[in-house]
Amino acid sequence: MNETDVNTSKKVDLKSFTKDELSEFLNDLGLAGYRSDQVFQWLYQKGVSSFDEMTNLSKELRNRLDEIAVINRASEFSRQESKDGTIKFLFQLDGPENHKVEAVIIPDFYDDGVARRITVCVSSQVGCMFGCSFCATGKMGFFRNLSHGEIVDQVQAINELSEERFGKKITNIVYMGMGEPLHNYKSVVESVRIISDPLGLDMSPRRITISTVGLTKQIKQLAMENLGTNLAISLHAADDEKRNRIMPINESLNLEQLEEAVTDYYFQTESPVTYEYLLFDEFNDTEEDAKNLIKIARWVPSKVNIIMYNNVAGVELKQVREERLNRFMRILVKNKVTATVRRSRGEDIDAGCGQLAIREGQERGKSLMK
Ligand code: SF4
Repeated sequence: MNETDVNTSKKVDLKSFTKDELSEFLNDLGLAGYRSDQVFQWLYQKGVSSFDEMTNLSKELRNRLDEIAVINRASEFSRQESKDGTIKFLFQLDGPENHKVEAVIIPDFYDDGVARRITVCVSSQVGCMFGCSFCATGKMGFFRNLSHGEIVDQVQAINELSEERFGKKITNIVYMGMGEPLHNYKSVVESVRIISDPLGLDMSPRRITISTVGLTKQIKQLAMENLGTNLAISLHAADDEKRNRIMPINESLNLEQLEEAVTDYYFQTESPVTYEYLLFDEFNDTEEDAKNLIKIARWVPSKVNIIMYNNVAGVELKQVREERLNRFMRILVKNKVTATVRRSRGEDIDAGCGQLAIREGQERGKSLMK
């Protein structure tokens, strides 16, 4: 290790701090409170990666920060573009392991080709421990949590591309990429605070959705945070027996416990819940499945997204056939469930969560699966 390496390793990454911690750190350097707001704005609103760009700070202060701190930023490693406008990115994270995570931009267009809604799906972990049988990320196992800075980096980088490509910023964020967001609770909550901070990315929390496989303790905790975000439950089966078969988490946190947590969440936040339901051919698409799903949809005010599955190599479950989808939807609608079909996007690229990272040689990490 040479002298530069030694110095670099001692430097602190400013994006590893929460907003309060950043303020404390700068305060300890003898800086007035408004300086902390300025640095926060440079980091997150303007997305700079060097202190030299912080032009409203004195040269002396910039040099001082440069001596003791760094600004890490996840960098784009590769991308795949689909015919339908979906773009999947692989971001390389800092660190000796060269971990990579995926993020996807999904534009929805008006008939005249102008982007109406631009959704970004971000990752919160490298890999995932929960081993859902239909998920490419689940097959990879768990490596590490992302920091809040690494989550915000994905949004920032894609925001820049969105403005260039579609002439507008992203409109919606979903935490549905690699990883289970509520298993990386602290970083996810802090990233939401930064994204919705007027001095950060200034996005309305109502346009941010956090998804979970159903970590009941964290759902209840999230309800108390007062974030104003939306909650989506990755349900994918409407009875314990079928859910156990495809989502191992259900064996320890079953539907009865999920109902209790979701009910608690609704009474705290008064915010309806969304259920994500991947419809698999001849697995969870029968009349009985629809009836079980209707019961769940009535736990609290909710809507259901029926999602068409992007088939994953080596996974037996397959995308539902059109006639079976139509029959399932008719039963939901007849029973007054608010349900929408989400068609697959980016089918001509590795759009299923985790597929691109696996292609790029991500190895196996820890898993709850034996
Ligand atoms: S679906 Fe979500 S929770 Fe399940 S294995 Fe994939 S990333 Fe993990």
